Amino acid sequence: MRDARFFGMDDTKLHLHPGRVSSWQLHGDCAPIYAEVSPTSACNQRCTFCALDFTGHKPQMMDPQVLATALHDAASLGLRSVMFGGEGEPGLHPGLAGIIRDARHEGLSVGVTTNGTSLTREAIEECSCCVWVKVSVDAGTPSVYRELHRASAHQWDALWENVGNLVACSKAQRDGADIGIQTLLLPDNVETIPALAQRARASGAAYLVIKPHSQHPSTKELRYAHLEPFYEELGSRIREATEAYSTESFRVVWRAAAIRRRREGLATPRFDRCRALSFWFYLDTMGDAWACSCWTPDQRWSLGNIYSQGFADIWNGPKRRELMRYVREELDVSACRIGCRAEQDNRYLDRLEHPEKHDAFL
Ligand code: SF4
Ligand code: SF4
Repeated sequence: MRDARFFGMDDTKLHLHPGRVSSWQLHGDCAPIYAEVSPTSACNQRCTFCALDFTGHKPQMMDPQVLATALHDAASLGLRSVMFGGEGEPGLHPGLAGIIRDARHEGLSVGVTTNGTSLTREAIEECSCCVWVKVSVDAGTPSVYRELHRASAHQWDALWENVGNLVACSKAQRDGADIGIQTLLLPDNVETIPALAQRARASGAAYLVIKPHSQHPSTKELRYAHLEPFYEELGSRIREATEAYSTESFRVVWRAAAIRRRREGLATPRFDRCRALSFWFYLDTMGDAWACSCWTPDQRWSLGNIYSQGFADIWNGPKRRELMRYVREELDVSACRIGCRAEQDNRYLDRLEHPEKHDAFL
């Protein structure tokens, strides 16, 4: 089993793309490496912690052909990877298997984030050829799971059956997907996390990743908005009890750096402005491309729509140019989501732009 640090879940990976970073340094911008795509806004759950509860989870589906064209164009520009997840549950899109297949045929590395309750056999087989699949299971007991995911009675059993099928299908591939379980760490589920590790290990998954909650500025639910005291008081008991389930073939990944950042909040700003938006974008179910998913639905952050524009025109177009100017000159990053996904990337880019006097001594 590769060490969990290999996955780099708690760190930047930009240093693994020196050519792209160099292009960004030379030109102030570059082609994106990574995209998050929302195949559907529909969801069969209403989790208490859902960051995108404000979308209403309308039963809209992205047109697979339009998406395939956009990903082809983005891959031609230099896109390297795509994660299907977003506003709703991707497993509810009837064309998910074909969407994944098309993305893989473009040469993209593909990951899928899912609640695991509604995957068809065809979707499971296609998912098993991805790089990874993360199944969100935010509790270690069926009763807490039902409460937090506002899940129906059969969904707990359904998701574990699907995890078992994902694991079996992936193991049957020459280089199958790494199947993982992920959970938020919340006051409501903290005592059940060791039980989740036990269940995840028994399922055959490769890892359980435990991460802090991060409040989206537009989320309607505010009960988790101020969890700093919870993370502050969190001792090592749960971490140790959970990590005890790690073995050669199963790893508990405790995202300590992200939990620390959430605990510290804005008390320790690590960068003066966001430099990470050259490297990724978000595509919502209606085909709108966004510079940053944390700022939806603020229209200033919308770059264009793949139903009416080619992807290269969106990426190099006037809306994105103006947005990048705004981010460079006006955005106050202290208003951004604490623990946003680009935090470590920003710290790396900030350091590159601020060399220190000992840097030349290798
Ligand atoms: S499964 Fe995901 S998209 Fe659906 S309600 Fe829960 S967090 Fe939101
Ligand atoms: S710092 Fe994070 S939340 Fe703010 S614009 Fe950049 S990626 Fe988005």
